[in-house]
Amino acid sequence: AKSTGNGTLTAFRSEMDAQYIDEQKLRVDLRQAIENRGLHVVYQPMYRPDGSGIECSEALVRWRHPERGMVGPNVFIPMAEDMGLVSHITHLVLDQACRDCATWPEPMAVSVNLSIQDLRNDDIVGYVADVLKRYSVDPSRLHLEVTESCFMDEPVAVSAILNQFRVTGVTIAIDDFGTGFSSLSYLDSLPLDVVKIDRAFIRNIVEDQRKLKLLRGIVHLSRELGLKIVVEGVETKEQLALVNRHRFSDLVQGYVFSMPVASEKIIELAAEGASA
Ligand code: C2E
Ligand code: CA
Ligand code: CA
Ligand code: CA
Repeated sequence: AKSTGNGTLTAFRSEMDAQYIDEQKLRVDLRQAIENRGLHVVYQPMYRPDGSGIECSEALVRWRHPERGMVGPNVFIPMAEDMGLVSHITHLVLDQACRDCATWPEPMAVSVNLSIQDLRNDDIVGYVADVLKRYSVDPSRLHLEVTESCFMDEPVAVSAILNQFRVTGVTIAIDDFGTGFSSLSYLDSLPLDVVKIDRAFIRNIVEDQRKLKLLRGIVHLSRELGLKIVVEGVETKEQLALVNRHRFSDLVQGYVFSMPVASEKIIELAAEGASA
């Protein structure tokens, strides 16, 4: 027989069980979506700060679940990493991204996110070379985004892989910059071309003087090191004006210019920019 106190515990447990079962179901569905090409890719343009044109667009994976609707990559990418399946997603995104990039006006580039698991061995280097060849995309049109966490366990091995990419002409960007800890030293020691400043910096930037100073420091150091700067998550005209006033960014990515869109829309947006 259950006491009242136990009843609470039982309710709590069954709620946990329900959550667990729910997640297990989602995992089964994810595995299926990966196998049956149930994922697709959208693109968010990175504009020149004056809005005059798009130089590159970031590939962002999407999963439309048959019953649940859109499931965000913040939910299913960690899941796929945990299941050891994320490299399948990377391959799928790389393939689609290069296929789409081949239809965009040259020299517009596409930027693809890599996961830590993609960098555990150098198979990825051959895969990328193959996919570029398959769609006749020049390596200079492919950017790869990695995060600080990718360097945590095997900095030397990961640097070696990234160097192999750079030798072939692929651009390497560090993503979500400024969200980790020992970030500044990475800028100098890793094989990087581009720094993507995380949107956490841009939020409140108009009001927060300390964030502004921090951003100024990061931008100054990045420039000294010859890195290109992309500011992410610019949502408002005020934020954009501030980024431009301080010349913080070589490229701007954010809702102020465009949400992630289908590949065909990227071509339209590029044409608008060209005629503006
Ligand atoms: P991320 O790489 O930092 O990508 C940028 C995220 O910020 C995207 O969310 C984008 O839609 C969102 N964003 C862009 N502009 C704005 C803005 O102005 N305001 C706000 N609030 N958000 C903005 P999304 O597509 O939901 O992706 C979330 C994360 O999932 C990505 O963050 C990335 O870490 C991961 N992800 C997405 N696609 C892939 C992929 O193909 N492979 C891997 N490994 N990870 C991916
Ligand atoms: Ca990214
Ligand atoms: Ca980012
Ligand atoms: Ca991220």
